[in-house]
Amino acid sequence: MPPSAPAPRIAVPPDALVILCGPSGSGKSFFARRNARSTAIVSSDRCRALVGDDATDQRFSGRAFDLFHRIIAHRLAVGRLTVADSTALSPDARRELRRLARRAGRPTVLILFDLPLTLCRRRNAARRRRVPEAVLRAQHERFRAQRDRLPAEGYAVVARLTARDGGLARLRIVRSAPPSEGAPPA
Ligand code: ATP
Ligand code: MG
Repeated sequence: MPPSAPAPRIAVPPDALVILCGPSGSGKSFFARRNARSTAIVSSDRCRALVGDDATDQRFSGRAFDLFHRIIAHRLAVGRLTVADSTALSPDARRELRRLARRAGRPTVLILFDLPLTLCRRRNAARRRRVPEAVLRAQHERFRAQRDRLPAEGYAVVARLTARDGGLARLRIVRSAPPSEGAPPA
């Protein structure tokens, strides 16, 4: 994106569940931190750490996701903006998140982190917690294989971020109902 282009704005109702979806290293947690207060971000890695002292220990995933969903359900029940920070690569994971939002009567916003594998790999290599190369590649393939079908799952808003967005995309809290789906307005 040229330096003068406006940063993409993603219209989000104030009580929405924002579902981040993308492979490891695609910048989900980075985006969440830049766009939401820390209490609004519910991270599956953080839940794993809260349960078993280790954000990467997959043995705790069952309990961690139970906690993840419970915190999300509580926040949605009281109408707080909630950012679900997990890969959300499986249809079941997304279905459960949509179910929680529906049960609380809250809209869902899906943000797709559609970055090239090379960039995810580079960012993964530069950080402290590194995901193994094979896992990263498999997640990226999985994401790309389903990417175009995801909007049809039914979200109030779907936004797709690419490498061109350069981390500039921002959430914009809107009081009125946003358009039903599509790319964020420029
Ligand atoms: P995981 O699924 O493994 O948690 P993730 O999608 O949350 O991955 P991040 O941890 O947000 O990925 O990003 C990976 C690395 O890339 C981090 O070190 C982060 O600081 C850096 N990064 C992410 N997005 C950007 C960006 N737009 N500009 C510069 N650095 C970035
Ligand atoms: Mg993360």
